Amino acid sequence: MHQYHSEKKEVVVVGGGIAGLTVASLLGREGYSVTVIEKGKKLGGRAQTKEKGGFYFNQGAHSFYLSGPGPGKEILAELDVVYHGKSVNREKQELYFTNQFSFFPNNLSRLLEIKGLSSQAQQEIGNFLGSLGMLDAKQWTGISLSDWMESSGYHEQTRQIIEAIVRLGTYSTAVERIDTGFVMKLMNTLIDVWYLDGGWQTLIDGLEKAARKVHVKMMNGMKVTSIQKTSSGYDIYLADRQAIHAEYVVLTTDPITSSKLIDSEGKYLQQLADQVEPIYVACLDVALHKLPDSTREFVLGVESPLYYSVHSSAAKLAPENGELIHLMKYLLPEKVNKPQEIRQELEAFFTLIQPGWQEELVSTQYLPQMPVAYDLISANRGGLSGRPSVKVEGLPNLFIAGDWVGDEGQLAQASFASARQVVRAIVSNDQSF
Ligand SMILES: Cc1cc2nc3c(=O)[nH]c(=O)nc-3n(C[C@H](O)[C@H](O)[C@H](O)COP(=O)(O)OP(=O)(O)OC[C@H]3O[C@@H](n4cnc5c(N)ncnc54)[C@H](O)[C@@H]3O)c2cc1C
Repeated sequence: MHQYHSEKKEVVVVGGGIAGLTVASLLGREGYSVTVIEKGKKLGGRAQTKEKGGFYFNQGAHSFYLSGPGPGKEILAELDVVYHGKSVNREKQELYFTNQFSFFPNNLSRLLEIKGLSSQAQQEIGNFLGSLGMLDAKQWTGISLSDWMESSGYHEQTRQIIEAIVRLGTYSTAVERIDTGFVMKLMNTLIDVWYLDGGWQTLIDGLEKAARKVHVKMMNGMKVTSIQKTSSGYDIYLADRQAIHAEYVVLTTDPITSSKLIDSEGKYLQQLADQVEPIYVACLDVALHKLPDSTREFVLGVESPLYYSVHSSAAKLAPENGELIHLMKYLLPEKVNKPQEIRQELEAFFTLIQPGWQEELVSTQYLPQMPVAYDLISANRGGLSGRPSVKVEGLPNLFIAGDWVGDEGQLAQASFASARQVVRAIVSNDQSF
């Protein structure tokens, strides 16, 4: 612990998900007096896991990027957060393409095994896979994936397969807007993807423990309704009308909530809320007694943006005689989505992969419109470096963190990264006095 200032400064963190708990634990270690205010009864936000009859339901398919762009692993180690899990078995990954199951082309030798692929597409995908690790990501920053594929003159099937791989890595279907520079950066990195024993709740529980160890105060089930700037910091108003004063405020809420909490002098936050393009998915999470076909562990739809994966095949998420499966549809941002139709589509995809699953059914969780990230990494806004900084223009000592903030990583990795940037900014602000 580094306590270089004599008086403990008060910090209020709004939101108790990954970003909020990371900010709180790291700042607590620096000697700040931190309070986390979370509107939900439980901490965790989108990283919560619900236990039902020995099955651990994350909120949709969650994979922890153990390696890859972002500091999550490093921060969790620094905070002594213990978690266990296993890498996804890539040998068992399949594509559903031209109405057939094929091996996933994660290396060149597998390419010939994709059924229904034209020779032109085979060659193009071969060249693309062969160039991974050597792609110049910077060169493509500011160019959308669709423009890059267009300029490459790719065959329709090549585009479909690249789009499916990009969906898997980013959850985004917005090919006209997602930044190719970021996509290349992601593809260049060998990502070790882990499913976590007990679900992502283990990360939340570990972060909570780390925060409590440094005396962070948790106020769950308390909604922040507004924030007023004062001469010495901020007054934070809660739904029960009590107010808390703090020198620093960190918002880890979604962009719209953040802009509404502080409407006077909050024009900059309003601009940010107006520009973001959230990524949504529909999630059908299923607990079964057993898989009708135990060989099918992972299938990615190519022509249809669908996903199926048996997370319990790698991680402890189900009791002895049980399996936990995540199905998803990556949603198109501009389309009006009909939850019941999408559920039927997901169930039909499941039947194709696991005929007779209904006889093995234990329970389901359907989340028709989940925000995976509050913003995509946009080509128009200059890729990663176009995301807003943790500092908020016009509001000194008020910071933002989350998966839409900062120039590092995506999804939860961006929440970890921006949380650490907030902590560094606050500490350096106090050191300069
Ligand atoms: C289906 C799905 C799959 C995903 N898969 C992956 C994956 O494979 N890999 C990956 O890295 N990431 C994945 N993610 C993303 C990951 O879950 C999020 O990036 C991460 O959990 C975000 O954490 P956060 O703290 O930034 O935001 P949140 O978890 O949204 O936390 C914000 C918190 O603020 C609280 N809050 C809001 N308003 C108020 C208020 N007025 N007062 C008090 N509290 C308030 C909310 O209740 C919430 O708890 C996935 C997300 C989804 C939905």
